[in-house]
Amino acid sequence: MQTEATMGEGKGTGGDWRTSNRRPSSFGGARREPEALEPPTMSRSRVQLASSYAPGVLMTWEGGKGICRAVPLANDISKQLNRTTIDLVFENLSDFATNWRDRAMKAVPDALPELILDAPFRDSRTGEVRIERGDFQMTGPDRVGYVPYPLVYRCGICGSTREYESIADQARQPLPRKCNGHDARWTQIDVVYVHWSGEIQPLSPFNYNFDPQTGSTRQIRMCTCGSTSFKLRNDAPVFSEWRYVCEGCGDTRPLKKAEPEVLSRLQTEQNTSGRAFQWIEINMLPVSYRANSTFYPQRTSFIEFQDSAVVELMTPPRVGELVAKLAQIHNIPFAEPAEDEVRAAVQADPKHRSDWDDYLSFLEMASRADESGRPERARSYRDSAHELREGWFAAGIVERGRLGSAGVLRAITQREDWTRRYNPIRLTIQHDAFLREHIEEAMARHAAVDVMEPDITLTDVVNDPQRKARYQSNIGNLLAHLGMERLVIVRNLPICEFSFGFTRVSATPVYKREHQGTSVDMPVRLKAFDQLPIQGTKRPIYVTQQQNEALYFKLDEARVVRWLQANMVTDVPHDGLGRGYLERYEDFGPFLEMFKDREGSGGYPRTVPAYVYLLLHTLSHQMMHSLADSSGVDRDGIGEHIFPADLAFVIYRKGMTPDLGNISAMWRNHADEFLRRALDPRMLRCGSGSLCDARGGACPACVMVSEVSCIASNLLLSRAVLKGGKGPEWEPRSAPDLVGFFDPAVAK
Ligand SMILES: [Zn+2]
Ligand SMILES: [Zn+2]
Ligand SMILES: [Zn+2]
Ligand SMILES: [Zn+2]
Repeated sequence: MQTEATMGEGKGTGGDWRTSNRRPSSFGGARREPEALEPPTMSRSRVQLASSYAPGVLMTWEGGKGICRAVPLANDISKQLNRTTIDLVFENLSDFATNWRDRAMKAVPDALPELILDAPFRDSRTGEVRIERGDFQMTGPDRVGYVPYPLVYRCGICGSTREYESIADQARQPLPRKCNGHDARWTQIDVVYVHWSGEIQPLSPFNYNFDPQTGSTRQIRMCTCGSTSFKLRNDAPVFSEWRYVCEGCGDTRPLKKAEPEVLSRLQTEQNTSGRAFQWIEINMLPVSYRANSTFYPQRTSFIEFQDSAVVELMTPPRVGELVAKLAQIHNIPFAEPAEDEVRAAVQADPKHRSDWDDYLSFLEMASRADESGRPERARSYRDSAHELREGWFAAGIVERGRLGSAGVLRAITQREDWTRRYNPIRLTIQHDAFLREHIEEAMARHAAVDVMEPDITLTDVVNDPQRKARYQSNIGNLLAHLGMERLVIVRNLPICEFSFGFTRVSATPVYKREHQGTSVDMPVRLKAFDQLPIQGTKRPIYVTQQQNEALYFKLDEARVVRWLQANMVTDVPHDGLGRGYLERYEDFGPFLEMFKDREGSGGYPRTVPAYVYLLLHTLSHQMMHSLADSSGVDRDGIGEHIFPADLAFVIYRKGMTPDLGNISAMWRNHADEFLRRALDPRMLRCGSGSLCDARGGACPACVMVSEVSCIASNLLLSRAVLKGGKGPEWEPRSAPDLVGFFDPAVAK
């Protein structure tokens, strides 16, 4: 503790911790039941409250007077968010939880599901990810409450300790003024026990034991001599030498505490299934409450869309429209029955005769609901209409329409099992909405600008035809060298960032516990925030929305095809690379396992999806580095989004990073440098030299970015893709060297 609180201060003033700024050690002086009122709040920025100050964190009470724990307060903002945004929050949350579970299960295959995911993220029966919307509430991070924690105190004079079970308990019997005959100097013990299951416990002297009678754990709050008083000897520099000393018999005990829930689960599991547990799975770690490891907020972000198609077309009732949409986006021949043919066929079918009228009235009700601003209702009417329609196709009453690509139809039926973040069908539907909303519509209101047709804010050449022509020829030339067909600066890309929970001990799904010289993998549990103090059992999801600058790149398709051919990729399509990508795609899997170093045994020959993704991803990183270098935008504050079937990618400023860089200013002052740097052969070399080249040409010293910025775990990356050289790490050693995308032979 920074400051020592004394017992007497504040007592009898009539205030309590809810309204005054008093230190926790004096709580209870007023002898009220404090639970009934809302806890005090602190002013922090919305971003802080949604992350490092989110519920569950332990922190210093304002004014350095003690330790408290943040708790959620209600602030429902569901009504302020559009429907698609809420859908995408849940889609991304489900994705995050699935990925979390996959990673934990991979490292610890026999981990109990409830020790990987908190109850609100999981199906209690199967242990798989299941997220019920009703369990959560979209919450504005404007206010968070604080309650004193931990409620265990130590006298600074003699080391005697005192623990309370609750604030009410402390209110009933406040800390005594005298301790062992002297004036007491109580302070909270600023070390807590944490466990990677997400739990914390005060540093009390009493351990938990399993009680076979009840099948649960209990704490024996007494020494074998009958005394309940312990002193804490904490002068040693390491926790392993701290001791609790019984004030009755002088017995000592080291810091040791089982996490009660984990103990009872693992003990029960051992009794029923025979899986023997080890104490290192159960015993908690003492750490200072200020240590980072006590709290890691968990959050993620996505690009917002108005168009509900990005979510709805992915649902089973809308598969018919999905087929039509893919046909339109990728120029796939599609013979659709005329509406009259469909009607005639349905009305001619005795069992479905009345369907047609129902179908029409659902559609009519949907458009009326839309007009009167009830999108929720509209959507459910539309779903009903489409379910009827799908029923006719399924029953063979009328043909759905024939898509001229068996491969894309196969992809549509298989996509359910694909890892969502690389699912090219989902991404191409998103790209379609992205183009419409964030490029075309944004350009119409000058919120997005094609760099070949700049406006005055991007460059002052605009009003001088000669200088403008020179600008266009220079930039056009550089883009051609880069193999880019189009580069658009998006000024206000809506990014939604949300936090939904936290972890302790480790920020990632696996904690490596060091034990007797070896390290043992432990599953880290993804915890939802505590329940909101409202009716029901809702957990908050803290949502922040902001508009950030972004760069949209689209590659020259003919150049990509030449590059694929030059690298002997098999089966390069001739009728549209986007369609070819969808037809050839096989699930990349959550870990991109097939694209890790296979020690020469990996996949070969080369495939279109792997190589197109490899190219886009490497270029994306190359542009991220170039942007950071030429703009001052924080490297870790740049996100990427890849649309593989559309040969496009976006890099954008994530969140509200505190750096001063901005993309428009970068373009105004350093456009040339930004593009040239990406092409510079020196930037395509790596400081680690041949070591990096031999490993496929990607390492943290060159083209990789931080784990939080990369959407593909820094895999499917290689500088050789751009400059030529040894093939990616997963290929056999006998695979031929790569021809670079920047190679003049490919650039032509
Ligand atoms: Zn004392
Ligand atoms: Zn004793
Ligand atoms: Zn390198
Ligand atoms: Zn990446």
